[in-house]
Formats: sequence, structure tokens, C-alpha cells
Amino acid sequence: MSNSSKYDLVVIGGGPAGYAAAIRAGQLGKKVACVEQERPGGTCLNWGCIPSKALLKSAELYSKIQHSEDLGISVKDVSYDFSKIIGRSRNVSETMANGIGFLFKKNKVDHFVGTGSITVPGMVEIIDGKDKGTNLSTERILIATGCKPRRLPDLEVDGERVMTSRQALEMRKQPKSIVIVGAGAIGAEFAYFLNTFGTKVTLVEMLDQVLPVEDHETAAVVAREFKKQGIDCRTSTAVKNIKVGKSNVTMDLVKDGATETIKAESILLAIGVIANTEGLFSSRVKPELDRGYVKVDDNYESTVKGVFAAGDIIGPPWLAHVATYEAIQAVNGMFGHGKPKKVTDFPGCTYCLPQVASIGKTEKKLKEEGVAYKVGKFPFQASGKAVASNQPVGFVKLIVGEKYGEILGAHIVGSDATEMIAEYGLGMKLEATAEEIHNTIHAHPTLSEAMMEAAAAVFGEAIHI
Ligand SMILES: Cc1cc2nc3c(=O)[nH]c(=O)nc-3n(C[C@H](O)[C@H](O)[C@H](O)COP(=O)(O)OP(=O)(O)OC[C@H]3O[C@@H](n4cnc5c(N)ncnc54)[C@H](O)[C@@H]3O)c2cc1C
Repeated sequence: MSNSSKYDLVVIGGGPAGYAAAIRAGQLGKKVACVEQERPGGTCLNWGCIPSKALLKSAELYSKIQHSEDLGISVKDVSYDFSKIIGRSRNVSETMANGIGFLFKKNKVDHFVGTGSITVPGMVEIIDGKDKGTNLSTERILIATGCKPRRLPDLEVDGERVMTSRQALEMRKQPKSIVIVGAGAIGAEFAYFLNTFGTKVTLVEMLDQVLPVEDHETAAVVAREFKKQGIDCRTSTAVKNIKVGKSNVTMDLVKDGATETIKAESILLAIGVIANTEGLFSSRVKPELDRGYVKVDDNYESTVKGVFAAGDIIGPPWLAHVATYEAIQAVNGMFGHGKPKKVTDFPGCTYCLPQVASIGKTEKKLKEEGVAYKVGKFPFQASGKAVASNQPVGFVKLIVGEKYGEILGAHIVGSDATEMIAEYGLGMKLEATAEEIHNTIHAHPTLSEAMMEAAAAVFGEAIHI
């Protein structure tokens, strides 16, 4: 079956890159289709950002209730229902994903269900699913097929003993104990979530800090707080010899040549992602790939003319907001709405407690690059709002160029860090200096005052430290 008239754009994949691209093309009045093999929304809405944040909200509330005595409030007989927590997360996911269907209709995006395969440039065939057999003729194609969790060879993911984030987001039974392999954002968030509800969590990271991409000082605060919360964090540690039994998993933790064998009810692999290109290309379409990711030029066009790509499928950073940005840039560019912009500075957030948010470079990176910089730091302990809110953990750290004071990097650890980082993002975009941030009146009392005070601290002029 062939869909009669030709599309301006066919998007393959309906995640934050794909749905945003399709909607943007619709806004530009283009004839556009989006082919998605599952529910629209992609990893983000269905198996990533949104359902995980729903779980974390339950954990945050539970731990706040447990500490309510600090604020003079006694709450007796607090309990939780794990299946309801998971159920709520799935419902949130469904609500948000259904919203994409509405947006498709509003923007006149034709939605096809099934796996899209590029037979030749200008032709997408749906090779399975509800719309199997449909051929879509199109001027341009945007690949937005994203990634899936990386697994380990010879280790079957059964959803109970062995999980990736996907199975963990819908686990029916709370494990009594779990080993989480990988202490990046996803591993750290699951560690916080499960530990809060009493699962004995061992968080294992091969590199020398939790949250390896973050600034060493913010990561150290998370490691310290995780330890206080009861999470067993092992860094510079490799997991080997995983053996799956009927009711538990055993494995070796190897650090500095010493081996310790441990046992847990489950193991969760949070060891990164791999590109989704299965079935995507016929033998006649062979865009250049780099470690599995589609290689693109400054216009987000692959080495096959008329075939573009954006989002996780073009490689790191694997973040929803970056995926959306790239996709919109790609669509604007292909339809003559300005030269597509490349991704330069982008925030990265981890939503455990304390939260971590950063933008720009770490001190380590700047040292490697030999860039001269100054640091301003302000602890939440000195923030009236943070102390009044019983949230004194963490700090704001601002790194600026030594000569001009422009923002090179910003690192926040503490409550609501993920909501605050946007101010420094805008500052970077507008090339604001530490002096300008220092001279911006911030409302009192707010946590964001700490961002102004960190800027003041660059000059040794913070008032409250
Ligand atoms: C547990 C978890 C938590 C996360 N939390 C965050 C967070 O807090 N913040 C953040 O920024 N990022 C987070 N991420 C990452 C984020 O989800 C991704 O960066 C984002 O979804 C990438 O968007 P995308 O559109 O490129 O790909 P995806 O969202 O993966 O979408 C790709 C879509 O393409 C479909 N598809 C694949 N192949 C085909 C095909 N051949 N035909 C048709 N359809 C196809 C897939 O079914 C999928 O729906 C998280 C990820 C995980 C796993």
C-alpha cells in the first residue's frame, strides 16, 4: 500500500526529537508524517524522564514525611504501596504520551504505527505494526529513533533478577536488595528511589566518582549524602562474574585487585545506551555511522542526501532537551528557517536527593584545557530560604573566565538545583558576566539568591558568608 501524495518530511521515531520535529514541520505548514513503533513520546515520556520523575516524587515525599518532626509535625503510621507508586508513574506516563497524539492532530501530523525502514532515500516503508506495508514517499527523512539501554553479553534481562531501567520502571515487586551497576544519572536516581523505600542498595561505579560527568565537588556531596541515607556506594569498582540464580544474583566486585563476592535479589544495569538502528536501513541506504550513531553534518544531514538525524541517535549527550533542540534546528534548517545551530551549552540534571544540575565545563575540564578561571561558591547552609525550608545541604558553584568573568561552568547540588540551573543557562546564552549576575536583584528569600551570592563570591563580595 502506498500513501498517495508525497510528504515534505517523514520522521521515524516519536520521542522528544521525533515528535518535536514533526510538530515543528506542522507549524511551518509542511506535509509531515511521524512513524512510531510504540506509543508516541519515546523513551522520555514512556520509559525515561517522566515516569522516573514520578517515582522520585513519591520517594521525596516519603522521605520528607519521615523527617517531618524536624519541622514540628508528627506523622504516625506512614506506609506506602509500592504497586500504587509504580501504577501512578505509569499513569503519568500514559497521560503525557497521549498528549502527543493530541499535538499531532493539532499540527496536522499524520501518525503511522509501526517500524519505519528507509528503503531508498525518499521512501519509508512500514515493515511491521498496525500500518505494516504502508510506503511513504517523501522529500526528506528525519531519523529520530533514539537509543535503548545497553545490556551485558550473556546476561539475559528477565525483568525480575536482571533489569534495565525499562523493566525497573514497571517492576511489580520491590526487591529487598539490589545491585545497581553504573552511577550515572539513571543509576543514581534508581538508587535514591529504591533506598528511600527500604531496598538495600549497592551502587557500583567503574570510574572514581558517582555521577562521573559531574564536577568532583558536587559528586562528593551526593556520595556523602547517599552514604548517610544508607546507600552502599562503590567507586573504582568493576562488576564481574554475574551469576543469576532462582531467587538471587551473585557477582564479584573487583577493586584494586581485591575481589568481594556479593549477593542481591536483583541487579539493575544502568551502563549506558546503544543506538536504535535495527531494521532501519535497507541494503540500498547506508549512511555513515560512528560507533552505531548516525553521523551528521552542521545541517543535521547524514551522508545520504535528504536523510537527516537528530536526538539520541546522533550520539551523546543523551538528553531529552538536547534531542528536541537538535530536531527543531534540523527542521528549521531543512525548510529554510535559518542556519541550524549546533548544541553548545546544555544543562544536565540528576533528580535524586540532593539534586545535581550543571551547565558548561567542570574545573577538571578547564584545567585540562589550560583555561584561566575563578570560582565563586555559596553554600545553602548560608541561605535563609534553604535553612527555613530544612534544605541546607549543598552549594552553588560558579566558574567564570579570569579575565572577563564570563560563565564557563556552573554546578549546583541541593534541593531544587534542577529548577535553578536555567538562570545560568540564560546567562551563558546572553554572555552575562559574574558581575552582571551579582548585580541582578534576586527575590528574598529564595534559593536562587545563592546563585547571585555565588557570583558575588567570585570577587570575595558575598554578603552571607
Ligand atoms: C530511565 C531514564 C531516565 C531518563 N531521564 C532523563 C531526564 O531526566 N532528562 C533527560 O533530559 N533525559 C533523560 N533520559 C534520556 C531521554 O529519555 C532521551 O535522551 C530522550 O528520550 C531521547 O529522545 P529521542 O527522541 O532522541 O529518542 P527516544 O526518546 O528514544 O525516541 C525514539 C523513538 O523511536 C522509536 N523507534 C525506534 N526505531 C524505530 C523505527 N525503526 N521505526 C519507528 N519507530 C522507531 C522508539 O520506539 C522510540 O519511541 C532518561 C532516559 C532513561 C532511560
